[in-house]
Amino acid sequence: MEVQNVDLTISAVRLDQYPKTNYPEIALVGRSNVGKSSLTNVLINRRNFAHTSSQPGKTQTLNFYVVEDQLYFVDVPGYGYAKVSKKERERFGQMIEQYLTQRDQLRGTILLVDGRHAPTADDVSMYQWLQYYHIPTLVVATKIDKVKGNAWNRQESLIKKTLGLPSANQLILFSAVKKTGKDAVWQWIDERTGM
Ligand code: GDP
Repeated sequence: MEVQNVDLTISAVRLDQYPKTNYPEIALVGRSNVGKSSLTNVLINRRNFAHTSSQPGKTQTLNFYVVEDQLYFVDVPGYGYAKVSKKERERFGQMIEQYLTQRDQLRGTILLVDGRHAPTADDVSMYQWLQYYHIPTLVVATKIDKVKGNAWNRQESLIKKTLGLPSANQLILFSAVKKTGKDAVWQWIDERTGM
């Protein structure tokens, strides 16, 4: 989809604050600083709509971005941020779990991992959790422009192996700088949302 219109409609922390529309929703999850805002901006052709930040963990609400009055991207707060208290982490956890397990409009989740490294224990837990709830998941490895081309295959294998991703499962190597993988991500979204 070539996106022209996008809006941040709603920031929600509770079920009763979610949009009342029936548009399909795609959730974006990943550790703070993994490149979630940057991916969102590339997908919607904006330079700085979803705020890229050097303050990881700042987003503590579910942010619903409506795209072309047809679907929502739902920015889920980054997990694994050490500086928030345990209590806060539990509260975020409940909010995320409630959204991902109870939202009928949710068509799939994009799990972002840092393409330069092996997925962390948090990434693995998140992936396993999504599998457990049978939530269709696309894994996107970010910042791939920072990895030399001849090491892409190795990173891809490492990420698949560490997550336990079935080999047939798609893993998209992505760069917000070069826009690598943008079309492949949109294709998956289009398939999931019937666009
Ligand atoms: P978020 O916290 O997950 O939303 O992460 P951001 O999108 O704010 O990105 C965190 C940092 O990584 C920023 O400094 C971005 O400029 C940088 N970054 C994100 N994606 C890429 C990418 O594909 N390539 C490179 N080189 N840097 C990236």
